[in-house]
Amino acid sequence: MFPPRCPSCDQLLAPDEKSFCKSCEKLITKVRGNYCMICGRLMKKSGKLVCPDCEKFPHIFSEGRSLYEYEGPIRETVYRFKYKGRKSYADAFAYDAVELWDEWIKASADLVVPVPMNAKKLKKRGYDQADVLARAIACESGIPYLHLLDRVRKTVPMKTLSRAERQNNLKNAFQVRDFDVKLKRVLLVDDIYTTGSTLDACAKALLERGAAEVSGIYISIGG
Ligand SMILES: [Zn+2]
Ligand SMILES: [Zn+2]
Repeated sequence: MFPPRCPSCDQLLAPDEKSFCKSCEKLITKVRGNYCMICGRLMKKSGKLVCPDCEKFPHIFSEGRSLYEYEGPIRETVYRFKYKGRKSYADAFAYDAVELWDEWIKASADLVVPVPMNAKKLKKRGYDQADVLARAIACESGIPYLHLLDRVRKTVPMKTLSRAERQNNLKNAFQVRDFDVKLKRVLLVDDIYTTGSTLDACAKALLERGAAEVSGIYISIGG
């Protein structure tokens, strides 16, 4: 066991610091207050329930929640979590996930399920950050974790694709494992939300198998 460190500056945390240290916490914006009821992004204008993006492009998943604004130290932190082996950051993210969204998580989830990475990528990277995060959120919230989905079709990297290309790229990419999901409410866990195409593709596969509802939670909304 390693003592917990701040996912932003890597300093050891004081006993009363649970996710980020006090000085880094000042530099990050946690999602609270006026956020989109569908994708969970913070909105500048008050009085609206849904952001322009979700108004224009309806989703298959029901609701998603984000933890932080994608700015300042969060970008760098997420990068290290994904690419530099800092799996331990998952504990800080999970702590904040429950601090921010405990009631919502309990109301929307019977199962905590990671958005899966393809096998080749997993082999290369050595760990799947969404899986690590899903386990941490399950542990922190007390809701069971289940690796329910597999990425069965090879997909090309999404970074440069348009929304329509993303949807096409993900067609039938996910398969539900042999588990009865009927009437279950599934909370999908991913690192970053971009257009929501990945969550939609996972939600479609789960809903076709009889899941009652599919929601999502992610560290941040980027792109
Ligand atoms: Zn710090
Ligand atoms: Zn939205």
